[in-house]
Amino acid sequence: MTSKSKMAKAEETVKCSDCGRVLSIKDQGLKWDRCQVCNSIICVNCMWYNRVRKEGLYSYYYDVIRVCRKHVI
Ligand SMILES: [Zn+2]
Ligand SMILES: [Zn+2]
Repeated sequence: MTSKSKMAKAEETVKCSDCGRVLSIKDQGLKWDRCQVCNSIICVNCMWYNRVRKEGLYSYYYDVIRVCRKHVI
């Protein structure tokens, strides 16, 4: 049910929740992405990565999640 059609109207922008930099929506994954904890928008300059321990079936392993400054360990 998700409509993939995109109207080429005025460029839609989002703002980095940390530094306030204006980013183009189509640059997601390139110049910005969302914090995997609070889902806020963060630009590449404000991205942090936390290593988290996850429980696997037989042992634990480490995973890396992208977070904003608020959750940096
Ligand atoms: Zn930023
Ligand atoms: Zn966050």
